[in-house]
Amino acid sequence: MSVRVRFAPSPTGNVHIGNIRAAIFNWLFARHNRGRFLLRVEDTDRERSTPEAIRTLLDCMEWLGLDYDEPPVYQSANSIRHLEVAEELLGRGLAYRENKGGGGECVVFRMPTEGRLGFVDLVKGAMRKRAGDTQDFVIVRSNGTPVFHLANVVDDIDMGITHVIRGDDHVENTFKHIELFKALNAPVPHFAHLPMIVNNQGKPYSKRDGAAFVGEFREQGYLPDTIFNFLLLLGWAPGDDREVLTRDEMIEFFALERCKSSAARFDVKKLLWMNGEYIRNKPREEYAREFLARVTAAGLSTEGVDLEGIMEQMQVRTRFYSDIPDNCAYFFTDDYAFDQKAVSKRLLKEGIPELLEKIAGEYQQLDPFTVESTHALLEEMARRQESGMGALVHPVRVAVSGSAEGPGLFEMLVLIGRERVCARLQQVAQRVRNGGFETASAAQD
Ligand code: GLU
Repeated sequence: MSVRVRFAPSPTGNVHIGNIRAAIFNWLFARHNRGRFLLRVEDTDRERSTPEAIRTLLDCMEWLGLDYDEPPVYQSANSIRHLEVAEELLGRGLAYRENKGGGGECVVFRMPTEGRLGFVDLVKGAMRKRAGDTQDFVIVRSNGTPVFHLANVVDDIDMGITHVIRGDDHVENTFKHIELFKALNAPVPHFAHLPMIVNNQGKPYSKRDGAAFVGEFREQGYLPDTIFNFLLLLGWAPGDDREVLTRDEMIEFFALERCKSSAARFDVKKLLWMNGEYIRNKPREEYAREFLARVTAAGLSTEGVDLEGIMEQMQVRTRFYSDIPDNCAYFFTDDYAFDQKAVSKRLLKEGIPELLEKIAGEYQQLDPFTVESTHALLEEMARRQESGMGALVHPVRVAVSGSAEGPGLFEMLVLIGRERVCARLQQVAQRVRNGGFETASAAQD
């Protein structure tokens, strides 16, 4: 049997992570089994499924590399067929008309009343219910439009779907859908229901917990690979403790047996970490393209700087490409911003101007000016003044970069260059002495 699966979203203008996770699982299942991954746009709600909403959906799939193997099926185009099937069910006594009030008559599907209903879910295991616990349900509304249950099942039959992989909010529907498949003498597909995505408190993850739409993560600067990988881990694990996988590894290892049935916790810290991992692992040329584009767009000049050296330091520390200009402007310009907290903690203290001037003087004489020599010099000074290295390293770092974070101080000093380092140490010393930083912080308050 060759696998045919589908992603069947109802476009609303925003693509929820829970929905796209279903697409990812279906896509990987198809690719792993050399089957087909299809897209069915469940666009019967004409008010919400606008052309714009459909475009957003297709765009999101393209961004994540979720390519489909046949032209998309638009459910609204099949409504005549859905209604024919309803007539057939009526003709065979498997459905009946009912007047639910309000004039028109709707078509209701008859559920079995005897025995048991059930199926073996490929993720959740055996799912059972007493017949009679699920009521008959409407398949055509009194206004003549087919209901989701009917449209969904008929389209799955017509598209030859072998496995239905979707969120576990559909479990109850599946009991109904299976009876429809049987009534239509169609093979019942396998079902796999993916666990609910929850927040730290174990409640369903929602907008209130943070970004919930793919577009929002994209705007925040997440890479498509990060989102893909992260969503895959919401309900699946490769069986060892690996967390970052290539697309090929995912395809190779993906199996529904490895899906978890317990709720999947959305851990935003992990997502952030993962984005950094993806950036760190990018080929340098690709990082360089992003780096240069952003640095240039921020109006920073790269003339005369050791770009390769700077990128080597920054690539392992970049969590979002969009952070690049702010995080390393000091390599390119003397007009870099000072973090007020770091300034107060490290610079606005007694003896700091003298210390910075002293270091500037010593660095001026230092030959050669290397990672090792700049380090050794501060070590020697710390010994002489009987302080820890921190008493020197932190003020120097904040003085030359404006920040308490960044690459190793000595790598940074060499990349900035002796002349600039010494000039900055002198200027910052002056500014501390003149109260220039206090004025700046007062202006900010
Ligand atoms: N349109 C439904 C949804 O988005 C389809 C569910 C399915 O069968 O995959 O929830």
